[in-house]
Amino acid sequence: MGVRRVVLLTLGWEDLPLSVSIHGASPDRRILEPVPGVLLQCDGGWLLVDTGFNPALITDPQLRRRFHGDPAFRPVLPGPGEPLEEALAGAGIAMEEIVEVAVSHLHNDHAGGLRHFAGRTPVHAQRAELAYGLSEGDGPERNGIFRVDFDDPAIDWRLADGDSQIAPGVTAVLTAGHTPGHQSFVVDLDESVGGGGLVFAFDAADLTENIDRELPVGGFIGVEAPDTVEPIRRLKAIAAEKGYQVVPGHDPVVWPRLTRSLGERFASVQGL
Ligand SMILES: [Zn+2]
Repeated sequence: MGVRRVVLLTLGWEDLPLSVSIHGASPDRRILEPVPGVLLQCDGGWLLVDTGFNPALITDPQLRRRFHGDPAFRPVLPGPGEPLEEALAGAGIAMEEIVEVAVSHLHNDHAGGLRHFAGRTPVHAQRAELAYGLSEGDGPERNGIFRVDFDDPAIDWRLADGDSQIAPGVTAVLTAGHTPGHQSFVVDLDESVGGGGLVFAFDAADLTENIDRELPVGGFIGVEAPDTVEPIRRLKAIAAEKGYQVVPGHDPVVWPRLTRSLGERFASVQGL
């Protein structure tokens, strides 16, 4: 039994130096990257992977100064309201239809919508990621992990220590390096929708170049830049064995293109 439908969401954009995604890229090159979310239709309902920004930290001037004060990193919200609500409305899926959530990691562009699910929906993460996110000191916040997004006793965490199947057809793969407990996702599609599948790297590989040329990502915690290549090779090996595509987390060309092609594929399968 596999996943029966995949819907990609764009939960905003970020205008930032290319060196954030490709280690050592020229400091004056910039890129506008989409903020990803993935909806997977599983047996019991929808599983959402990643939740975008917390818009209050961007729209409120005081909070913005504290959390997004570096002018080199410009978060861009997709609309006036909650990015997740707006994207779900666009996809025709209600928040209440999401029965499980997973986060690739706790960076603010992935964990900012977790508060929608506190007290309501289980949240899958790696134990090492949450431990780092809740650790003392200013390290996590300086590294873009904002405790206010996820330090809530009402969140029903489902913590893994390494690779684990989190739903039929959805396997989380530990790809630490970018953050201490980053995870990527292998998605097996159900035979009833034609089979095959996808490997969602998220921030283990922001861009196609990270995958094709095995270039280290620019952001990493507790390791050195070259150490971020091993998880990329691991995802490529899994994908090659299964005949799947590795999907980069923030690629401005791949993400919109795959959003469209998956939309077309599942529209024709389901006669939508
Ligand atoms: Zn990240």
